[in-house]
Amino acid sequence: MTFKDLGLSEKVLKAVADAGYKTPTEIQKQAIPPALEGKDVLGLAQTGSGKTAAFVLPMLMRLERGRARARMPRTLILEPTRELAAQVHDAFKILGKEHKLKVALLIGGVSFDEQSRIIDRGADVLIATPGRLLDHFERGRLLLTGIEILVIDEADRMLDMGFIPDIERIVKLLPVTRQTLFFSATMPEEIQHLTARFLHLPVTVQAQPPSSTAETIDQRLVMAPVEEKAKRAKLREVIDARKDDIRNAIIFANRKKTVEILAKSLHKHGYNAGALHGDMDQYERLETLQKFRDGEITYLVASDVAARGLDIPEVSHVFNYDVPVSPEDYVHRIGRTGRAGREGTAITLVTPEDYKALVAIEKLIGKDIPWEGEAPSEEEIAAAVSGRRKKRRKPAKAKKAGAKGGEPSKTGKAGAETGKSTEKAAQADGDGRKKKRRRRRRKKKPAAAAFTPQKEQAPAGKTGGKTGEDTPAADAPAGGFTGDTLPAFLARPVNGES
Ligand code: AMP
Repeated sequence: MTFKDLGLSEKVLKAVADAGYKTPTEIQKQAIPPALEGKDVLGLAQTGSGKTAAFVLPMLMRLERGRARARMPRTLILEPTRELAAQVHDAFKILGKEHKLKVALLIGGVSFDEQSRIIDRGADVLIATPGRLLDHFERGRLLLTGIEILVIDEADRMLDMGFIPDIERIVKLLPVTRQTLFFSATMPEEIQHLTARFLHLPVTVQAQPPSSTAETIDQRLVMAPVEEKAKRAKLREVIDARKDDIRNAIIFANRKKTVEILAKSLHKHGYNAGALHGDMDQYERLETLQKFRDGEITYLVASDVAARGLDIPEVSHVFNYDVPVSPEDYVHRIGRTGRAGREGTAITLVTPEDYKALVAIEKLIGKDIPWEGEAPSEEEIAAAVSGRRKKRRKPAKAKKAGAKGGEPSKTGKAGAETGKSTEKAAQADGDGRKKKRRRRRRKKKPAAAAFTPQKEQAPAGKTGGKTGEDTPAADAPAGGFTGDTLPAFLARPVNGES
C-alpha cells in the first residue's frame, strides 16, 4: 500500500515524499482512511509507530477547505508534555509545508503574548498542553467553539500526569459535532471510560499490541548491587563492555535525584552525559534534547518524562539503571531503541529488590529476558517476591496504599518520582488521609460525607500549565478536591444542609 492509496491530496503527497516517507506505517494505513471519512478514531499506538503523521495528514486535508477566524482555531491537538507538543509542531512544519497554515504552540515556558498574537490572527492548528490551553481560555483569549478536529495524544500519559480533569474541562468547551482522534499506548480502565465518553462510534486501530517489545531489540538483564555507588560502577562496567557499539544511549532512572546524580557521576568519569527530567526548565530541556539529537551528548540520563515522548529515531542503546516500577514503562523505555526495524540493545540493571518488578515485566512482555553473566536462581527470585509480599502485609497503612494505588513505591517514599505507580502510591496516601478526614466529617455531617467521591483525585496543582506540564501529580500534594477542580455537585447543599 502506498500513501496515494490512502486518498491523500497532491499537496499532502508531495510533503510526505519530501519528508522521505516511502510507505505508510501500520497505524497510518489503518487510521488515515477512516479519519479522512470524518470518523472518530481510537488508535492504540506508541511513539515510534508513525502515529503523529497518522493524525497530522488527515488534519491537513481537512484544513485545505475553509479558513480560521480570529481567536477561533479550527483544530486542537492536546499533548501531555512540552517536548511532545514541540515535536508535533515540528511535524507540521515538515508535513504541512505545502499548506500555508497558522500553527500556534501553546506550552508553558514560552511567551504568552506571542502565543496570543498567533491565536488573534486566526490559528488553523493549536498544539497545546492542557494547562496552558486553559490559561489562555480563562484569560478570554480563545474560543473553542470552532474546533472541527480534536486530537488527544498519549492519553495514558495524560492520565499518569493527572491531566484528565483538565481534559474533561476542555472537551466540554468544544462543539459536540467535532471529529475526535484519540491515541494511547495502553488502555487502562480509566482511559476506556474516557473513550466511551469522548468518542462517537470510533474506528479502533492498533499498531501493535502495546505490551509487545520489538523483535529487533536485544534485551539483557545484569545483576547489580543495591548500594548506589557500587551500582553506578556496575553501570559503567556494562557501558564499557559495549562502548564500541554505542552510538548513543538513554539511561533511565526512576527518580529525578538519581538522574541528576548519575549524570554528574558519569560526566566526572569522562562520559559525555546529559540529564533530562521534569524539574529542569524548558530551555534547559530543549537544549539538552537538541544536543542529544545532534550527537553532542552521547548518554542521556532521563526520568520517565522522556520515556514516551522523545522522537529520536536512532538510539542504539537503552540502559535501565533502575528497573521501572510499572511494567508498561519498561516497554515504553526500551521502545526508544530498535525502532523502524533497526537493531537495538536494552540492558537492565537488576538488584534483588527488583525481582518482583522484573517478574511483572516478563509477564507483560510474555517472555523471559536473558541474564548476562551471573544470574539469580528461580528460587531466589520466588523467595524475594514472596518475602516482600509478607513484609508489605504487616503495616495496615502500607497495605491499604498498595491495594488502592497499585504497586507501592519501591522506596516507600510515595510521590517522590515521576513513575505512574509512585504517583498512584501518592494518591493512595492521599486516600488514606482523606478517609480519616472523611471519617471525622461523617461523625459531624453524615449526609455531606456520603457524597465524597472515592476514586477521583485532584490533579497536580491547579492546572498543568501553571505547575509545569510534565511535572507529574506525584510531585504535587495528593489530596482532595481543590479550587477549580471541585465538582459542582459537591458544592451544592445536600439533604437540607445549608
Ligand atoms: P511518531 O511515532 O509519530 O513519533 O514517528 C516516529 C518517527 O517515524 C518520526 O521520526 C517520523 O518522522 C517517522 N515516520 C513517520 N511515518 C513514517 C513513514 N511512513 N515512513 C518513514 N518514517 C516515518
